[in-house]
Amino acid sequence: MSAFAELHSRLPSLAEAETRTITTVGHAALPDDTYAFAEAFCIERDCDCRRAFINVYARRMRDLVATLGYGWESRTFYRNWMGADLPEVDDMVGVTLPPGTIQSELSPHLARVFEDLVRDDSEYRGRIKRHYQQFKAVPGESFAEELTVDECRAELEDLDLTPKMKWFEKRPKGCDSAAALLDLRADSVRDWDRALLDASLESLYARR
Ligand SMILES: [Zn+2]
Repeated sequence: MSAFAELHSRLPSLAEAETRTITTVGHAALPDDTYAFAEAFCIERDCDCRRAFINVYARRMRDLVATLGYGWESRTFYRNWMGADLPEVDDMVGVTLPPGTIQSELSPHLARVFEDLVRDDSEYRGRIKRHYQQFKAVPGESFAEELTVDECRAELEDLDLTPKMKWFEKRPKGCDSAAALLDLRADSVRDWDRALLDASLESLYARR
C-alpha cells in the first residue's frame, strides 16, 4: 500500500469547499457533533487504484474518530488491478475499516452513515471520483517521496509552531501524508503535536 495524502494537502480550497460533513443531534449511536469526511488519495503518479481513505474528524471532540476505506469500482476492477484473485481484493471494494488504521468505538456507525451517503447520493459519489482525478492531476513537488514520521518530526522541530500556525501551508516537503500527521497526533505528549492537530482541524473547518 502506497502513501496516501489528504485532498487538503494539494487542493486546500477545493477540500474546504467540498468536504462532506454531517451534524448529528440525538443520533442513536453518534454523539452530537459535526463529523467531516476528509478524503485522502494515493500520492503515486502512475497508480490508478481508484479508491480513497476517508479520515473522519469530529469537530467538538477535536479528534480523528475513524478511518474508512472506500473503493467505488467493482470487485472485478480491483481483482484485475491486483492481477490475481487474492483475499485482499475484498478489502478494496466498497466501504471498509482498513486494518492498522486509527479507529474508535464510533467507527462502525460512521462507516454505516458513510455507506448510506455514497449509496443514496450520486452527486456525492461523483464528487469523490472527481476529487480523485483532480488530486491525481496536480503535478510537481506534491509527488515528492514521503518522509518518515521521524523525518517529519525533525523537520518540524525547526518550525514556529504557534497555535495559529497553518499546518497545510507550512508543512515541510514530503510531510503530506495523513499517516504522518496522524502518527504525530497519536503521540501527542508534546504541546506542539496538539497544536498541529488543532491547526489542521481549524484549517479543515475554516469556511464552515
Ligand atoms: Zn494508488
